[in-house]
Amino acid sequence: MSRFEEAPEFDNRDKLHVCPKDDCGNDLVQVADWDELVEEHLWWVMCHCPDCGWQGEGIHYDDKVQDFNEVLELGDAMLKGKVKILEANDFRIYAENFAAALTMDLIVPEDF
Ligand SMILES: [Zn+2]
Repeated sequence: MSRFEEAPEFDNRDKLHVCPKDDCGNDLVQVADWDELVEEHLWWVMCHCPDCGWQGEGIHYDDKVQDFNEVLELGDAMLKGKVKILEANDFRIYAENFAAALTMDLIVPEDF
C-alpha cells in the first residue's frame, strides 16, 4: 500500500527554498520530510514555509533536491556563524562586567 492517499505530483518550481505563495515569497522554506523514491533520481519532498505556514509536497528530480539541500546547508552554516558571534559577544560583555566589578572591589576572595 502506498504511503500517499493521492499520488503527489511533479513540482516544477526552480527554487524549492522559495515559498510559492504569491503574497509571501519567503526564501526560508524548510524541509518537513523527504524521501528518495524507488525510481532513480526522484524524491518526494514535503516543504513548509515558516513565514506564512504554507505546506506542500511534490516529486522532484534529485538535481533540484541537491540544490535545495545546498541552500539549506548554507543557511545552517550562516545560522551557526551568527550563534558563535552572539556567544562571543555575550562572553565579551560578561568579561567586561567581571573586570569592572573587580576594579570596583565588588568581587572579593570570599565570593569564591
Ligand atoms: Zn510562505
